[in-house]
Amino acid sequence: MNQNQNPGHSGFKNPAWLLALKEEREKLQLLMSGNIFIRMFLGLLDRWQPPENIREQCENIKKQYMEKVLHTVFFFGRLNQRQMRPNEFLDNDTFKHLQKMFPLSFQQYSTHLPSLTPYSIVLQFGSEVAGCRTRNEMESFLREFNKTVENAVNSTPDLSFSNYTFKAAVVAYSSYREPGKPQNEAGFPLFYGASLSCKGWIEKMIMISILCLRTWHKAVAFAVYHGKDSLAIVFPEEVQCCAFYYKNGAFLEKAPCVNCRTMYRVDFQPYEGDDREKVGWPHGNCAENECLSKLLLGVPRLQERLTTTHSPQQPNDYTAIEKEFADIIEGDVRNQLKGLLQKKDFPLDLQYFEP
Ligand SMILES: [Zn+2]
Repeated sequence: MNQNQNPGHSGFKNPAWLLALKEEREKLQLLMSGNIFIRMFLGLLDRWQPPENIREQCENIKKQYMEKVLHTVFFFGRLNQRQMRPNEFLDNDTFKHLQKMFPLSFQQYSTHLPSLTPYSIVLQFGSEVAGCRTRNEMESFLREFNKTVENAVNSTPDLSFSNYTFKAAVVAYSSYREPGKPQNEAGFPLFYGASLSCKGWIEKMIMISILCLRTWHKAVAFAVYHGKDSLAIVFPEEVQCCAFYYKNGAFLEKAPCVNCRTMYRVDFQPYEGDDREKVGWPHGNCAENECLSKLLLGVPRLQERLTTTHSPQQPNDYTAIEKEFADIIEGDVRNQLKGLLQKKDFPLDLQYFEP
């Protein structure tokens, strides 16, 4: 070891050495986070016992979820500055066992793109499989999962919840209080979303581009695309959006950030409380995007009641949103995604992982 590499000498302040140290630390955090996320999701699937009559069909659903979880974790390992292979996340026996059970994730993590970040897969499982309908049901489902993750993080040396990679800082739900329906939780379903559960600016931008192209409703992609030019989507007044951050086992209400307030004209509850003029994450990072997208995808014909804040001489209805998406946004976002993937040496043919 020469003087420049030795932390005991003046080389400790060498920028290259510090960068290497930072990258190595981030790699370790990602590795431990991936290991925990995979193990805790396996635990969630084990605990979940479907009714006898649909057990066989549920085995398939469980398999698909596990494939998605493994694929997305390995994908973030592949994107990391210090690329990781699947076997680095797992001990030898678990690696062999999972590779045999879920080969597709191991074959396609470095060629195919995921459609969700890790925590959003947990949310999807909660609503689509575990059947959480009310706020109470969803919060207790998420609390149980978060608790197992927190315990695992706390028992891992050199890892804390703040540098655990795959947590969602915020979850949110939106709902549409359709006139004429009972004004309670039975009358209108809640659509849950999570903030992006991954780290790194490029990683986040890659995921936001994928979500805009592949997963989110076109109106949400429109709002994200126009985030910087203060062009907003206007929802009917019966649509409500509530966000929460998770702390010590509780979900605490949270006001929307400046990005969300400029992107969406919607009944945010609460609205007041966050008066920062700038935030350190890109448009599209917040939980509000996913929950509003799910609402639009889940409530038939609601999209037709959307407008935009385009100046009056321009068409501002949903047909105009769809047209702009097809004519401009989709192509621009696809090019942006390819540019970002190129930086990571990832194939540019944009294939998606579909277990
Ligand atoms: Zn926000």
